Amino acid sequence: MVKKNFIRFVLVLLCFFVIPPALTVLIHSSSAEPIRTVRVGLLAGDCQTEQGKLLLAAYEQLLNEEGFPYQIVSPGELLEYGSAGIKENFEGLVIPEFINSTMPPEVAEVIKAYVREYGGLALLVFDPATLTSGGVQRQAPLLDDLAGVRYYLPVPEGQKPTYSGYWYFTSSGKGREWGIPPGKLDEENAVNSYSYGKIKFEHSRAVNVDAQVDAFDRDGDSNIPVITKKYYESGGLAVYVNIPLGKYKLSSDDLTARSVLRTYLINDVKIPRLVNSPGGKGGIVFNLHICSGAYFRALMVMMMQGLFQKDLPFSIHITAGPDTYKLGDGAGFSAENKFKGRPILEVLKNYGEIGSHGGWIHNFFAYNLEYLPQQKAAKLIDWNFSALEAVTGKKIREYSDPGGNHPFWVNSELEKLGVNAYYYAGDSGACPTHPRLDGNNTSPKIWAFPISPYQKFASLEEMERGRVPSEKVKQWLEDLIDYSAEERTIRMVYTHPSETRFCLEAIRAFEQKALSEQKNDRITVAPMSWFADFLNRYSLTRWQVEKQNGRDYIIDLENPESLKDITIAVYVGEEHKHVVWGGNIKSAEEGGWLYLTITSNLKVAHLEIRQV
Ligand SMILES: [Zn+2]
Repeated sequence: MVKKNFIRFVLVLLCFFVIPPALTVLIHSSSAEPIRTVRVGLLAGDCQTEQGKLLLAAYEQLLNEEGFPYQIVSPGELLEYGSAGIKENFEGLVIPEFINSTMPPEVAEVIKAYVREYGGLALLVFDPATLTSGGVQRQAPLLDDLAGVRYYLPVPEGQKPTYSGYWYFTSSGKGREWGIPPGKLDEENAVNSYSYGKIKFEHSRAVNVDAQVDAFDRDGDSNIPVITKKYYESGGLAVYVNIPLGKYKLSSDDLTARSVLRTYLINDVKIPRLVNSPGGKGGIVFNLHICSGAYFRALMVMMMQGLFQKDLPFSIHITAGPDTYKLGDGAGFSAENKFKGRPILEVLKNYGEIGSHGGWIHNFFAYNLEYLPQQKAAKLIDWNFSALEAVTGKKIREYSDPGGNHPFWVNSELEKLGVNAYYYAGDSGACPTHPRLDGNNTSPKIWAFPISPYQKFASLEEMERGRVPSEKVKQWLEDLIDYSAEERTIRMVYTHPSETRFCLEAIRAFEQKALSEQKNDRITVAPMSWFADFLNRYSLTRWQVEKQNGRDYIIDLENPESLKDITIAVYVGEEHKHVVWGGNIKSAEEGGWLYLTITSNLKVAHLEIRQV
């Protein structure tokens, strides 16, 4: 290992002192194609309205959080580039709904030629080019033949061109391919959500013509396409998604937009990205909610069975007051009482990060949050933090609401208290994000960790009560760990302490799988505040990828704090070998992707990937 590092060091020295003059000559003499920035184009048509601005912001947020390099382009700029110019300047196009519904015909023509003749890639979302400049629905959208789908079919007067329907995948494998995590599809491969079961999405009335259908909705005997792909001989591809993705992100469903964008940009466009998880590995948060004193026995059983382990630090969130239902009932965890919660808390603090669960009196707080004056509710939240901090001697940085009751104002209170991560019942199935609801956006420093549900159930006890077979729950937990490793993304599961065989076995199965995948270096199990610290640092990274001669990459990164554990994923294919220049890098190759992780506290890094 030492020897290898030394050789690499010499190589790096060579790169700096000997090769550059030679290289400069080489580059200037041999490159037919100049160096160009790698990015995807985000087409922003009419963004003047409030809704248009919000929608574009939602797309930008997703692209930023996922580390995809992009540039906003206006229809006018697209015309200036022309079809060949788009191909030269962008790896692919994302065409969001609503802001591109009144696309001028000449812009539609440029996009069509870009895909058909120049091998371009385009994601068409929901309703592009469906309206005339006067806002009247066209008989046929200008891009429907490109998509191979007749979307936004004309309807009789008085009827809406869209309706509410389900989202089925053609197989469970297809759902997985499109980034839908385990537990989010039911037996019929329809998308489910926590507490609802099968959920409905807005679709346009549409008919498939000659595209490949990956997802659909059932309408009597016929199917309405929901995700389609149409390939062209030029290498071009038009993906059509019959769901307004940005609109869902704006109404607390992050997963729908994120999984479609990720899958298109990673699998089809194969654009380099800054992986949004520490070390570019999967991440798992196990969040335990201790709502009251009713869990003492279960906690003792879990401790005796060795379910708390130092290698698997949990996020353990506690309601700390002496009461649960109402003042004076004595049913609380009572974190400061040495005959009740205190000795247990002193053990638990060694097995993860202690977080705050609601406001002092679990059920009272959960049921009355919207009726209490904000100041009073904030006081209850504060008490909970203070009690836990007094016992643990540590700052509390994590929060979970009781009963899924998390109004947006709570976040500013949490921010004041120094919280950087909280459990979140919205955006279910997604990775840590900044939720948006009714146009509200949360502080960029504080991360929501959405629940990963199993169909309509979230906690293990709900699954037990819902009579989900034990084997299915174990399988789901193991699959979720594999999913997080394969997708290199972070997911959170939550439950309560329990002493039932069903729950204990599920937790044990989870832990065995988590320990072994952690040993294999595929995932990290850590508290949510640890991941949030990383994500806050990650979001400070400025970076740029350039492509040279269509096969080599030059990457520059900068982070005012540190680049440590930041990973860049670059698709290089499996046919050729590549060398990476640049020090302090751990490199791994998987499925044609090169994952380069910075291993030391650099603030600036320059990497080159060259085909040999
Ligand atoms: Zn609770």
